[in-house]
Amino acid sequence: MNFIEDGNRVLANLADYYHQSVGGKKKVIRQVPIREIHEELNLAGHLKEGDLTGETLEAFLNTYLDNTTRLHHPGCLAHQVGCSHPTGALGSLIDGFTNNAMAIYEMGPAAAAIEFFMINHLLCKIGWRPMPEKIRERLTFPHGGGVLTHGGSLANITALLTARNHLDSRIREQGARGDVVILASDAAHYSVSKAAGIIGIGEHNVIPLETDTAGRIDISKLETAVQTTAENGGRIAALVANACSTGTGIYDPVGDIADFCRENGIWLHADCAHGGGALFSDKYRPLLAGLEKADSIIIDAHKMLRTPTVCASLLVKNAAALDHAFAHRASYIFHEKDQPGFDFIGQSVECTKAGLGLKFYMALAAMGEKGIASYIDKTYDLAREAGDYIAAQPDFEVAIKPESNILCFRYTQTPADQLAIRNRLIREGAFYISAASLNARQYLRMVIMNPETDMADIRGLISAVRQAASGGSA
Ligand SMILES: *Cc1c(COP(=O)(O)O)cnc(C)c1O
Repeated sequence: MNFIEDGNRVLANLADYYHQSVGGKKKVIRQVPIREIHEELNLAGHLKEGDLTGETLEAFLNTYLDNTTRLHHPGCLAHQVGCSHPTGALGSLIDGFTNNAMAIYEMGPAAAAIEFFMINHLLCKIGWRPMPEKIRERLTFPHGGGVLTHGGSLANITALLTARNHLDSRIREQGARGDVVILASDAAHYSVSKAAGIIGIGEHNVIPLETDTAGRIDISKLETAVQTTAENGGRIAALVANACSTGTGIYDPVGDIADFCRENGIWLHADCAHGGGALFSDKYRPLLAGLEKADSIIIDAHKMLRTPTVCASLLVKNAAALDHAFAHRASYIFHEKDQPGFDFIGQSVECTKAGLGLKFYMALAAMGEKGIASYIDKTYDLAREAGDYIAAQPDFEVAIKPESNILCFRYTQTPADQLAIRNRLIREGAFYISAASLNARQYLRMVIMNPETDMADIRGLISAVRQAASGGSA
């Protein structure tokens, strides 16, 4: 086995890649056509020969790395994918090698124990009661629960399924009759309506809630929305709050919404896929004030917790609701057995499930509590500073004062075709940003995920946007 030699080559080249990226020595993004990548990598040839080892592997890896989008580059400001922590990436390697599909405890005790630990860690951060380690004590008293999933979309599906079955447990077997609805604002992530389609509620039964101009749920309009829904014969499975929203990074007032939901007996699902990282920061925790009054929460570790993709968490205040969401039985796995641990399989859509907790734990444990807090503070602070700086430029405007690390802005001088500007920036390759449309206007959008990005990069981006708008090269 060439594992050690090949592994050393891979690690050495990844380390070079990291330094090139952080130092901005290579373009953040470079896109060549599919066929060229196929040819450069000699995909068909290696498959035929089975020669992917030693120098051949190294050459292959370097071509691969040259065709990646570099998340560790300080100009990488486009999407909400975590700037993966190298120690977290080692977690992915260990998990891939050991391949312990841990949804059944005996198939991966270490991985399952770490997932259990991480779920409890998050439950305690929220202010909910953790799961008892003695499995016999499960559900003998009220406590929280949860599961790690392969992504936030799956976590949202699982949360809304839990809420749906909590509303009416017969739906799992009999199907919904078209009267079950979900209330969510237009700022909700599209995975919410996708989930509604998948779990049989129906995409058209996601009823839009009114928002203010920043896209925050307007509390004063909730009562009417609930009344109208009831008058139309709708039964509300859940109300979804964003903390924060994907497009603009704005936090819905979760605590106030939770009070309303409690008074009206409505399941509150807080989608904290992106913004849940604020739980780790003393400075920004107030953005999530009252979060503990929600019924279910999702947090993506692969967004603001620097964990390699994919790893998301679904957390519920009452573990019994999640235990009842799925009730499948397969005799070869669900039989009476004497075991010291917990089977997550009863909580998840997935059957074979990776040891997601390992990379999550390893990323956080390498940084420590203070490290992750300072990462959140730094990226959120920088978005504020960038917002003030851009708003002060005569030829730019900022859509909304940022609350998280997401900032939407636009170039206002003609020609101000924001998408053309973005395309030109991407071709230049020094900066990579995204775009968003808000209140029928096109904006440029930056998401500060990289702990290495600083104000010099932001100033550089703004001059690059000016150059791109004037048709010159950045
Ligand atoms: C990213 C995101 C999701 C979806 O998570 P994935 O991990 O990409 O599937 C859901 N909700 C919000 C608010 C998000 O930002």
